[in-house]
Amino acid sequence: MHPVAISNTGNIEQDIMNAINEIGGLDTVISKGDVVLCKPNVQGSFSPGSGIITDAKVVHVVVKMVKKLGATPIIGESSVYGRVTEDCLHVSGMYEVAKKESVRIVDFDQDEVVKVPIPNGTVLKEVRTVKTVIESDVIIDIPVMKTHVATGVTLALKNMKGVLPRREKAKIHFAGLEEGITDLNATFTPDIVIVDGIVGLEGLGPSRGTPVDMGLIVAGFEPLTVDSVCTKIMGMDPNEIKHIKHAYSKGLGEIDIDNMELYGKPIETVEKTFKEPWLQLKEFKGIELLNGNACSGCLTELLRNLEYAKIDGRIDDLKNSTFYIGPDIQFDEKCEKNIFVGNCCKKFAEFGIFIEGCPPPGYVIREKLDEAGTK
Ligand code: SF4
Repeated sequence: MHPVAISNTGNIEQDIMNAINEIGGLDTVISKGDVVLCKPNVQGSFSPGSGIITDAKVVHVVVKMVKKLGATPIIGESSVYGRVTEDCLHVSGMYEVAKKESVRIVDFDQDEVVKVPIPNGTVLKEVRTVKTVIESDVIIDIPVMKTHVATGVTLALKNMKGVLPRREKAKIHFAGLEEGITDLNATFTPDIVIVDGIVGLEGLGPSRGTPVDMGLIVAGFEPLTVDSVCTKIMGMDPNEIKHIKHAYSKGLGEIDIDNMELYGKPIETVEKTFKEPWLQLKEFKGIELLNGNACSGCLTELLRNLEYAKIDGRIDDLKNSTFYIGPDIQFDEKCEKNIFVGNCCKKFAEFGIFIEGCPPPGYVIREKLDEAGTK
């Protein structure tokens, strides 16, 4: 089994319908009267077509299809910690879709919080999600095809982090990212996945990369199986992506393409090698980044400001610096110039420059980078 379909006709609506119909149709998971949560990736305040967020056009088609089945779609999301989800949803065009189709849109950061026990979780024993997630009969996971500086790729499995409101997302980073993503997907298991591969993102994802025109929709029932196919399409090996491999070890789907039922366009006719995030990190010569499972909020804000320093010609002042970021960092006292990013690293503040915040705002990072550059 493990069906996955790829469509690239150049018409978004047609591609979504093709991909869904090839795997058996939306009515295999949705019945009349169901409440259906449509969960896009709206991680920050970005426009449709940027490759950073799910395109509102994709969500619009899905919402219309759900309505046609006599079910009630709801669009819901919690953006990365530190962003105002409501603003992000507005900029993304999701509010416009909700208005046009007269459907509810829920900012999970404003929703009623509900505690959910995870008795069999590997690292998570309980999480806080929201009422809308709990009360949905069906979850449609609608990620966008992107690279990610912490996890290699971010697709359907990782998109489920958005069912955790506000700071609850950081819990996964403290508990263990790979295991946490698996626990989350085993608890809030999407019923169907529709990947927006119209415009993807390569390089410093999830938000500082370069858009890649792909013109694809990929659909399947298992997030892990769909992610494995998408990772292949992006020119990477799913066995090299830790959270995909971990989800596979827990039996959440299939990782081996040979064991899947593939429909529509063959992978080799649509694949395009995405520039990996780690390669771009190496462009900051003379700077070491020790990442201990940092959230993307912290990582991308730091990388954004390092990039600005590079553009402004200030990057050489930071040579021989070691940046520490994330809850699991190992401090090496032998390093020459230590810069600790985010409140997770506060305990080491006395050993170098500490950049406060969770995540630290851009202006605080810039001030501290300037300070580090003069030392
Ligand atoms: S300081 Fe950064 S890495 Fe630590 S929890 Fe906050 S956002 Fe995440």
